[in-house]
Amino acid sequence: MSNKRNFGFDTRMLHAGHIPDSMVGARAVPIFQTTSYVFNDADQAAQLFELKQYGNIYTRISNPTTASFEERVASLENGTGAVAVASGMAAQFAVFMTLLAPGDEIVASSHLYGGTMTQLVHTLKKLSITVHFVDPSDITSWEKAITPKTRALYGEIIGNPGGTILDLEPLSALAKSHCIPLIVDSTFATPYLCRPLDWGATIVVHSATKFIGGHGTSIGGVVVESGKFDYTRYPTIADPSPSYHGLRFYDTFGHYGFLMKLRCETVRDTGACISPMNSFLLLQGLETLSLRMDRHVANAQAVAEFLAQHPRVTAVRYAGLPDHPHFERAKKYLPQGPGAVFAFNIKPSSGDARAAGKKFIESLQLFSHLANIGDARSLVIHPASTTHQQLSDEELSMGGIGPDTIRLSIGLENREDLLWDLDQALRAV
Ligand SMILES: *Cc1c(COP(=O)(O)O)cnc(C)c1O
Repeated sequence: MSNKRNFGFDTRMLHAGHIPDSMVGARAVPIFQTTSYVFNDADQAAQLFELKQYGNIYTRISNPTTASFEERVASLENGTGAVAVASGMAAQFAVFMTLLAPGDEIVASSHLYGGTMTQLVHTLKKLSITVHFVDPSDITSWEKAITPKTRALYGEIIGNPGGTILDLEPLSALAKSHCIPLIVDSTFATPYLCRPLDWGATIVVHSATKFIGGHGTSIGGVVVESGKFDYTRYPTIADPSPSYHGLRFYDTFGHYGFLMKLRCETVRDTGACISPMNSFLLLQGLETLSLRMDRHVANAQAVAEFLAQHPRVTAVRYAGLPDHPHFERAKKYLPQGPGAVFAFNIKPSSGDARAAGKKFIESLQLFSHLANIGDARSLVIHPASTTHQQLSDEELSMGGIGPDTIRLSIGLENREDLLWDLDQALRAV
């Protein structure tokens, strides 16, 4: 028997990125609650600042607790490395700031998280970056939107609220043929349900706030890279960097060049670092990820099947149901199940559909009405009266949302209790 072994996913959830510390032997990852690190001597300090030696300087750039979290996520995603930041929004922004320059373009799926939409449409526009939105399921629309200025393709593995699944294989082939990276927001899947890098994506971003943390306690984000993209002719990563005295990140750090630039320039300069305490809490979440996701998915499947046959429900958009247009695609990319977040519509009994949605939400006893997903507890939101209340019915329907659309994030409670709660609230409408 060999004394080397490639450990399985569950083993790496518990062990990757940490060996018990040699000073006190702590088995759990210690929380290194420190801003800064003492240099051995003046020469070492200079070497660290020049990136000629690897080590910690200041927690805005790196921290040992955060490093354990980064290594663990990188291992679970089969990436070359990872950088953790303050939030999912910060993770995406750091990727865009590292890759793009004014005048560059992105082609993005139109089925995106609301906050991501605003970041792409308004904030990137201020930086003279243009985003073209396309129907994520239509590969020719992606192809048509690519111009010589396109520097990235962007999509979410599971779209919301339609439950659409990104077709990773042809998309990564398209990205490859144009020498541009495919960036995938895999928040709804987690590395347990899907590993986009294995399907040819270049970069994965997560809002670790959601299922990775898993308990609704901490905001955090993480960027993972495949290490397989050739940045030789990709100016922002290959060219000498004026903000690091002419350093060529790709030349110097090879497959780690993108992440080094993201950490040492973008995160250094934008300052959206994660706290060591949050890295610790997110590590705690990772240790039970597969167990929780199996339960999340099994409960979501049971709830979706229950709602699909309920007389007061019209459309359940969960890719685990055979009538969903991406049922087969979900089985291919998410063989353990297509996540635990999905939407459905209440059958309007009479008149005002928005009012029916409100009444339903207010009648629920177990589901928490709030703006989050991926908590251990079940969550619900009525987009038309909350996150999307500024929009007319027409604008809502463009985003695939009706006045009677309800979004659920299914938690880990007893299945029968969830079905009971939904049933009694539907009857109250
Ligand atoms: C929540 C979320 C984000 C943003 O993450 P934060 O941690 O809240 O900043 C991005 N993408 C998706 C799919 C999300 O659900």
